[in-house]
Amino acid sequence: MTANPGPSRTQDAMRIVIVGGVAGGMSAAARARRLDEHAEIVVLEQGAYVSFANCGLPYHLSGEIAQRDELLLHTPESLASSLNLDVRTGHRVTGIDRHAQKITIQTGDDTYRLPYDALLLSPGALAVRPPIEGLDHPAVHTLRTVPDVDALRERIEDLLVHRLETDPAPSAVVIGAGFIGLEAVEALTGRGLKVHLVELAGHVLPPLDAELAPLLADELAAHGVDLRLGVSAQAVTQAGTMPVTLGGAKRESGKAGSPGAVTVTLSDGATLAADLVIVNVGVRPASALAVEAGLELGATGAIKVDGDQHTSDPHIWAVGDAVEVTQAITGARIPVPLAGPANRQGRRAADSICGRRTTPQASVLGTAIVRVFGLTAATTGANQATLRRAGIAHEVVHIHPGHHAGYYPGSEQVHLVASFAPDGTLLGAQGVGRAGVDKRIDILAVAIRAGMSADDLAELELAYAPPYGSAKDPVNMLGFVAQNVLDATMPQWQAQDLDKARATTLILDVRSRSEYAQGHLDGALNIPHLELRQRLDEVTASAGGRTVSVLCASGVRSYLATRVLLSEGFDARNLSGGWLTLRAVHPNL
Ligand SMILES: Cc1cc2nc3c(=O)[nH]c(=O)nc-3n(C[C@H](O)[C@H](O)[C@H](O)COP(=O)(O)OP(=O)(O)OC[C@H]3O[C@@H](n4cnc5c(N)ncnc54)[C@H](O)[C@@H]3O)c2cc1C
Repeated sequence: MTANPGPSRTQDAMRIVIVGGVAGGMSAAARARRLDEHAEIVVLEQGAYVSFANCGLPYHLSGEIAQRDELLLHTPESLASSLNLDVRTGHRVTGIDRHAQKITIQTGDDTYRLPYDALLLSPGALAVRPPIEGLDHPAVHTLRTVPDVDALRERIEDLLVHRLETDPAPSAVVIGAGFIGLEAVEALTGRGLKVHLVELAGHVLPPLDAELAPLLADELAAHGVDLRLGVSAQAVTQAGTMPVTLGGAKRESGKAGSPGAVTVTLSDGATLAADLVIVNVGVRPASALAVEAGLELGATGAIKVDGDQHTSDPHIWAVGDAVEVTQAITGARIPVPLAGPANRQGRRAADSICGRRTTPQASVLGTAIVRVFGLTAATTGANQATLRRAGIAHEVVHIHPGHHAGYYPGSEQVHLVASFAPDGTLLGAQGVGRAGVDKRIDILAVAIRAGMSADDLAELELAYAPPYGSAKDPVNMLGFVAQNVLDATMPQWQAQDLDKARATTLILDVRSRSEYAQGHLDGALNIPHLELRQRLDEVTASAGGRTVSVLCASGVRSYLATRVLLSEGFDARNLSGGWLTLRAVHPNL
């Protein structure tokens, strides 16, 4: 072990040592410098790069970010000259001696110790390694770092350059249909690969509510992606060595000709030939250093921190993917691996280290967004599954309005789902569509943060001219619909309750005859909504005293019909989200 090779400290200057030089760590380092010109700030990064744009990696893979250098926002040299930071890449922190306030660092074959006054941990997360046989095969990649994307690009170039005109497209298997998995699928498809996407859950993008996910599945299929849902990958084997048959069924798709090609065997017995595999099944907090140092961890294995990012040690702070935060709606303490929280926490930790008043750590909404070819999917707050698990009472509303005025050319449907507490408080929202989704989810994220209710959404004053929105913006519409549901102006039923509705109520379909002819529920009574007032006798006869479960395409005409029926003394309710949502929940209708 050698002596500390860092510069000697100015007398009384604080030494702040930061472990991890990317999102949270570098935010903290830069803020600390702005607050304390004299502190000695050392950033230790085990990798070869600091301050790189990990969120941009999929877009370098696709080629949209053409230059690799665009991802490398800073170098140790640029950080030394602009912020007077001592940034050491290739330096891995291997231990923390809390008593002596020193850390142990390994660099190459050398090991040294470095004292600290304040230590900040921002070591990020580790990719979960699923139990798949053969994951060490060189064809198997992850997508987390610059070297990862370098390796993938090299493999793709190789496959494309050596491809003969007559060869089928090279193929890839992406395991895991989460945010990064979907970005990888889009990038690989854009590069001309045939992509198979394997997801254990029953739908793509598991954080999304199930009724929105089919829109993404359709978009993937439209771009030639072969989607395998509800199955896991079991083994990756060198192509040509693959006689494995699980469950008696052996189906092979794609090709297995290129050197280094593999076969991926799925839990349903199917086999997929691939020239490369990307595994992206989630992350877990990189808390090994904290564990070894005896810092307190939460039940999820993430580092426990207080409101100003202090760990259980008064001289150690922690931020980013490695720490637990409070989920805004459920109050659960969980890690939320997103760049926004990591950056904000880094700033807050620096404030705390430098003795500034800190803004108390806000609970985390988990607001996230992803592009899937032409669609955008975004989420904020709690989804329905989380609310159910947490036992939080809620009403769900579905709407499908245009992203701007329908009479202005180019209006695209925005599919929005939002959950409200019985007192009207907004608990969560999700959206999928070709335009305008980011804007609505960001507004709704602010609304949740502000504790807004359905009444507040109804009154939000949002910028409007026909190319941008509607006089009644989709966000206002969510508020209106939720108000109607919560005060019983519009009782509703959900697509998930279809079996019960069919067994115990009259299904009244108020779409036009032509819409009805294109697909409907067996046994439904079809009365187009404009004829309803004249044909109430038929409803009375068919209902025979039962509740009337009304539906139309999106829930708007059936709302009008429901109001007519309620006013005429029927027990009526409207299908939330209409046929569009019903078909998403019951694709075999
Ligand atoms: C491909 C990809 C795309 C993403 N896209 C998005 C997105 O679009 N939106 C979004 O919100 N989030 C996105 N994220 C997540 C986001 O990047 C992370 O949440 C964020 O970077 C976490 O910040 P962090 O500081 O905790 O960890 P990181 O930014 O991962 O930094 C941790 C660093 O610590 C280093 N380190 C770990 N242990 C040690 C040690 N013992 N010694 C020295 N160094 C160590 C690691 O090498 C790593 O470089 C994406 C992540 C990836 C990988």
